[in-house]
Amino acid sequence: MAVVATAIATTSVPSGRLLSAAALDLKNLLFKESLPFSDLKLIHGRYLRLGLDDCSSFLTGHPAHALLLFSQTTKPNLFHYNTAIRGLVSANLMVEAVHLYSNMRREGFSPDNFTFPFVLKACACLLDLETGVKIHAQLLKTGFELDVFVKTGLVSLYAKCGGLDDAQKLFDEMPVTNVVSWTAMISGYITQGKLKESIEVFRKSLEMGLKPDSFTIVRVLTACTQLGDVNMGEWIHELVAEKDMDRNVFVATSLVDMYTKCGRMERARHVFNGMVHKDVVTWSAMIGGYSSNGLPKEALELFFKMEAENIKPDCFTMVGVLSACSKLGALELGERVTQYMEMNDFVSNPVLGTALIDMYAKCGSMARSWVIFERMSERDLIVWNAMINGLSMTGHEKACFGLFAQMEKLHVSPDGNTFIGLLCACTHTGLVEDGRAYFNRMGQVYCLSPRIEHYGCMVDLLGRNGLLEEAYQLIKEMPMEVNAVVWGALLGGCRIHRNIDLAEHVLKKLIVLEPQNSGNYVLLSNIYALNGRWDESEKLRLTMKRSGIQKTRGFSWVELNAAIHEFHVGDNSHPMSGQIYSKLDELTKQLKAAGYTPRTEVVLFDIENEEKEHSLEHHSEKVAIAFLLINTQPEETIRVVKNLRVCNDCHSAIKLISKIYCREIIVRDNNRFHCFREGACTCNDYW
Ligand code: ZN
Ligand code: ZN
Repeated sequence: MAVVATAIATTSVPSGRLLSAAALDLKNLLFKESLPFSDLKLIHGRYLRLGLDDCSSFLTGHPAHALLLFSQTTKPNLFHYNTAIRGLVSANLMVEAVHLYSNMRREGFSPDNFTFPFVLKACACLLDLETGVKIHAQLLKTGFELDVFVKTGLVSLYAKCGGLDDAQKLFDEMPVTNVVSWTAMISGYITQGKLKESIEVFRKSLEMGLKPDSFTIVRVLTACTQLGDVNMGEWIHELVAEKDMDRNVFVATSLVDMYTKCGRMERARHVFNGMVHKDVVTWSAMIGGYSSNGLPKEALELFFKMEAENIKPDCFTMVGVLSACSKLGALELGERVTQYMEMNDFVSNPVLGTALIDMYAKCGSMARSWVIFERMSERDLIVWNAMINGLSMTGHEKACFGLFAQMEKLHVSPDGNTFIGLLCACTHTGLVEDGRAYFNRMGQVYCLSPRIEHYGCMVDLLGRNGLLEEAYQLIKEMPMEVNAVVWGALLGGCRIHRNIDLAEHVLKKLIVLEPQNSGNYVLLSNIYALNGRWDESEKLRLTMKRSGIQKTRGFSWVELNAAIHEFHVGDNSHPMSGQIYSKLDELTKQLKAAGYTPRTEVVLFDIENEEKEHSLEHHSEKVAIAFLLINTQPEETIRVVKNLRVCNDCHSAIKLISKIYCREIIVRDNNRFHCFREGACTCNDYW
């Protein structure tokens, strides 16, 4: 571009024909591309020297230049004003556009049907209803209110600024409607949270024979996504396919996004695969979708595909990928993907920084989390929360409380999530007094009303410490409907302190609240069996069988050389399974020699009988550990992630393994981190 500009700039004053050719050239250039400002100035200088004083064509180009040119126009006319206002609006300089409109009025110009749509659009974007209403009054005196574009501008203004009734009234008065006015109404309903109504308006527009454009479709799909209404989304998908709009990258990406947010990953992938043109937004939507739908392995696989196609990830892709690594506890992979960004991007962008802090924390590497946290230039509340929660999760409760004190000193106001971190830290370490203090501090100092999660933490804390009565009392005092998580926390307390009667009561509540959770049935039937109530036990198992309830299978996964390996109970599918099982046999002998006896007393653990018989030594976490013992160097840390809670038998076995092999073993279960070292665990057998 600079070359062209120079060529034109050095042209000597041409004859008439050449002159108009040069002017045409310039116009084409300006409309085709947005030029760097310096080039434009150069061209404009030459333009003026060519004696072409009609500079309107410039005004829609670079907005700053448009204003510069405008200020150089000695006698601007209405056309100049209109072009400049339009230029400013298209460059998203809305305040400037409204300002120029005021100047124009002050200069005595009467705006026309080319002025109003743009200045109204500016007011709508600024959500400035006050100015908008004034302009509405002005235009009523001009007689332009019947113009379809002016009216559309008014409809958009009111719809966007929350005056839906006024918008609807104006819309109903319109003799001719167009796709812009319909879309404005649809968007207005969405902004007001009236999602179902917005889809009704869309339906009506179709009945009126209107052909929606990609912008309309994207808006309506947003409504479906927010409603979580996948049926409606599918209907729009069909419509899009009928109208041959699914080739449009924005529309198709919105479809992918809608399906992922509704949890329909297969449908999302189908649309994704069918797309000829995908941009980074499409890839990010799909990767983030896998990650948030509990399919982190798929998220990473897709990321590697994206890498192979040489598409540079952006901030959103990164957040999805890092969250997938967090879920897998895949530290090596997490580190590798960060190389796509500059370290500076992470420490200067709170969203990216938070994702990285969270990834390191969930992989049990708090030291690395801390380095990022320290380096971050902008720490918003979410960054602080990520750090506090990370410290809490990994059992660094003292550092966690210290960081909170620092936060208070710097007058950063905590929110409910900060307190979740603090309460969890207390729960993990049994600090009842601290827990009570933080719980009270929330309301008394920060006027935050505890959410159900906070009650859950307190019930957990009290229950684990044997204060079952107090925990039960707290549940009865809760101002909201008690959910399964809170009852589950009380059940955990009953399990540790062997309160079978209360456990029975809690389980009955849980079975009503989550009829598909097999664990509750298994536990309750175990309790019945223990008390010799065989009939009841049998009945419960039958109910379970009849309702087709299946037990969540336990599995563990580990990362080795940038690949994820998954193991199930008594799993033989792994290519190395022969070696793994001989290692397990060896382990069993070593454990026995070290004085270990299997703990089969698992009444209050939701372990099925077959699974018990399948011998405790083959629980997936042990299989995973055996696999890594074979495949890693003696000094390397072993990291395992498990989808369920580690059972007490595995817990005591892993303690011994850490001692026998002098290894640090970090197991992340669905509840917390266990760092096993020299025969002890950081949870102090408290989980
Ligand atoms: Zn186990
Ligand atoms: Zn532990």
